Amino acid sequence: MPTIDYEKIRTEIRGLVDDVIRPNAEKIDAEGIFPRENLLALAKAGWNGVLIPEEYGGLGLDHVAFAIAAEEIGRACASTGLVYVMHTGAVQTINLFGNPDQKERWLKPARDGLIGTYSTSEKASGGHWWFNFSQAAWDGGEHYRLNAEKSFTTSAGQADYYLFQTRSPGALGPTDISFFIVDSKLDGISHGSWEALGVRGNHSGPISYQNVRVHSRDRLGAEGQGKDIVYHGVSPVYLIGLGAVWHGVARSALERAADHLTATHHRDFDRKLSDYQVLRQQLGESKVLVESLKPWQNELARQLDRLQEAGQPQGQILIPLTEFKVHAAEVANISARNALDVSGGYGYKKGPLERIFRDARAGIGMGPSNNIAREWIGKVLVGLPLELFEAGGE
Ligand SMILES: Cc1cc2nc3c(=O)[nH]c(=O)nc-3n(C[C@H](O)[C@H](O)[C@H](O)COP(=O)(O)OP(=O)(O)OC[C@H]3O[C@@H](n4cnc5c(N)ncnc54)[C@H](O)[C@@H]3O)c2cc1C
Repeated sequence: MPTIDYEKIRTEIRGLVDDVIRPNAEKIDAEGIFPRENLLALAKAGWNGVLIPEEYGGLGLDHVAFAIAAEEIGRACASTGLVYVMHTGAVQTINLFGNPDQKERWLKPARDGLIGTYSTSEKASGGHWWFNFSQAAWDGGEHYRLNAEKSFTTSAGQADYYLFQTRSPGALGPTDISFFIVDSKLDGISHGSWEALGVRGNHSGPISYQNVRVHSRDRLGAEGQGKDIVYHGVSPVYLIGLGAVWHGVARSALERAADHLTATHHRDFDRKLSDYQVLRQQLGESKVLVESLKPWQNELARQLDRLQEAGQPQGQILIPLTEFKVHAAEVANISARNALDVSGGYGYKKGPLERIFRDARAGIGMGPSNNIAREWIGKVLVGLPLELFEAGGE
């Protein structure tokens, strides 16, 4: 791959974010609007195909560039950032596991605004989103029938296709998983609404799939290959993207807090807020944590690129990617909390800091939740197996 100028990439995406995404952020949050206009602007400039090879109409860039884009979008609007990451994750999973016909039909139209997302989580297994109880059935001829109650799907009712995870027909256990690319316009699909504390524009509501008939040409990979796809397709790109969005959110809280401190003046003692050491201390705490994310993000993204180039499974760095996700989500929350504290009543009022504070909470619970993730990390550290699929219920 030719050398990529990452500073140029950052300048370009920052320009688009400043022109389109940042001005929309407050309205998206206040009215719970899906960020369609932002996604279309990103598509037009090629960003929705950042990882799609040029032969399928994409920019053919790498994970470092993708992470920069996700970070810059998250810096302005976390809702848009999450929709963008789920879309790019769906696209990259098709890029890695799809056949030429699927790439032609599902990747090429990304430049015109076609949006994908992941539909994996089910209420019955909660945050163990890799563990499904739903099961596909053969429907004679060349079709499958899909039935499932998916508990959360970002861009529910808005995406053009869902990367749908379920047990294979006749599966004997939870590891026998298959993936399908499901056109969201098919009969039998309905979605619920999304009313939540934060990321109010990302529409991560429930979806009901009732006897949805899907042609076998839209099965992604082979029947039963789903476990591989979870580890080496869905998870790596999702985790680096998710961490990058929370990195952007953390940085934004810090920048806005610093601006507030330098711009606010108390006339009684003729002092700016930035003259108080106790407030500068909090900015200092956030700054150290935020800066820890940048080199880590770059290094993990580079590793993903090296593995992809070498044709090696990207899931081998699942635990480091998970550690990065946990840390980025925690740092976003600390940075948002500090920002609210140092900006007093003005930070507490409805507006950007209060929005960021609410948005950041989503990072803690999004799969793998920080609780589940720490459990994975700890188990690996002491040499215990992850046992992701060895639950009691069938
Ligand atoms: C904003 C947002 C966007 C999302 N987008 C998508 C999407 O695009 N696609 C999709 O498929 N899903 C999506 N999800 C779902 C998400 O990945 C989780 O599956 C979901 O949030 C789990 O919620 P729950 O209430 O079922 O969790 P529960 O599993 O019931 O968790 C409740 C509590 O128990 C803890 N817990 C659960 N299991 C363990 C364990 N083994 N060890 C330690 N602690 C544990 C959790 O950390 C949490 O604190 C999204 C969720 C949110 C909030």
